[in-house]
Amino acid sequence: MEQQSVATGHQPEEQENLDVLVSTQTVIKKALDKLGYPDPVYNLLKEPLRVLTVRIPVRMDDGTVKVFTGYRAQHNDAVGPTKGGVRFHPDVTESEVKALSIWMSLKAGIVDLPYGGGKGGIVCDPRNMSFRELERLSRGYVRAISQVVGPTKDIPAPDVFTNSQIMAWMMDEYSRIREFDSPGFITGKPLVLGGSRGRETATAKGVTLMIREAAKKKGLSMEGARVVIQGFGNAGSFLAKFMHDSGAKVIGISDAYGALHDPDGLDIDYLLDRRDSFGTVTKLFKDTITNQELLELECDILVPAAVENQITAKNAHRIRADIVVEAANGPTTLEATRILDERGILLVPDVLASAGGVTVSYFEWVQNNQGYYWSEDEVEQKLEDIMVRAFENVYRTSQNRRVDMRLAAYMVGVRKMAEASRFRGWV
Ligand code: GLU
Repeated sequence: MEQQSVATGHQPEEQENLDVLVSTQTVIKKALDKLGYPDPVYNLLKEPLRVLTVRIPVRMDDGTVKVFTGYRAQHNDAVGPTKGGVRFHPDVTESEVKALSIWMSLKAGIVDLPYGGGKGGIVCDPRNMSFRELERLSRGYVRAISQVVGPTKDIPAPDVFTNSQIMAWMMDEYSRIREFDSPGFITGKPLVLGGSRGRETATAKGVTLMIREAAKKKGLSMEGARVVIQGFGNAGSFLAKFMHDSGAKVIGISDAYGALHDPDGLDIDYLLDRRDSFGTVTKLFKDTITNQELLELECDILVPAAVENQITAKNAHRIRADIVVEAANGPTTLEATRILDERGILLVPDVLASAGGVTVSYFEWVQNNQGYYWSEDEVEQKLEDIMVRAFENVYRTSQNRRVDMRLAAYMVGVRKMAEASRFRGWV
């Protein structure tokens, strides 16, 4: 590995910057430069406008009190209220939440929603907490951030290890504090509490559309195409199902503990049936490979759908896929992006590929505001129109401006926010 890096003149992995805030700032700067915006615009957009840190005391089932740290970052609200998920994960940091809020602004810009980006996170491991402890933590978080959120201010949603049940508790807590029913406070709710049809599958549907569009550009048929998916959570598991149903062959999947590989195609329905609510399934099998090995499998389409910094300068040379579609936020480093681009691998970046989730969250919020609910077909048709248009826009920008797909996506995503900030006189 070392040798390979030196021989090709690439930055060795140990020198590579894995701080996602720094890498997103680097690309924002490049995008604004390409678009001709002056430095003050970058200065405004490089950090969130607001970041709230909270400490949440929770009574645990054994009677002790544990204090959890949580964050809510609001990147920029020039376009509209901020919007983005809340993640429950032991590795959550303030810097990561800030980067995630910037990515949400970019996603909203790319699919043209009337939002800025926001993001929340709590440092915790929900895999080791009971249902009741999770409920108390979710409600405590809402009490701690209630002053800065709301249907016209900042609208949370699910993210890593949070789901519709957690959204329901958070919505209920907010409605109690405000003393009126507030379905538009949060999205990703259960259907019976004002959730939208198609929200649960929306991220995976969006990724499926991006795979289809990228495959067209590469002249690749989806029938029998070999797909590898890293991560079996909300995005990865539904995606595996959609790929399998569309005639592609899912030859690899993984969770946090390991990966499964079968060159003839995995039995996806069985795996979906056996996965737990955190997307864990590989523990049931003896014959597993590592996540690293999974990423390097020969395939047509590789989808990182787990966490950050998975494709780095260390393994980008060994990726054997024609297309990489990022369903996770931040799975590929900047150096790896450069290597993949140089090797002719078509990358559909996170801020485009995973925007299906927030798009249907927007539909959910619109339906809550109207009190009128749409059919699943209507949701899916509107999602398809928006995602396909966004893909074309980013792809065209990448071709016309001769930039990689990530920079193109940032250029498309940052423009409206920069303009809105200027009109408001902020820069
Ligand atoms: N957490 C998802 C994301 O990263 C969805 C956010 C939302 O629906 O607001 O895009």
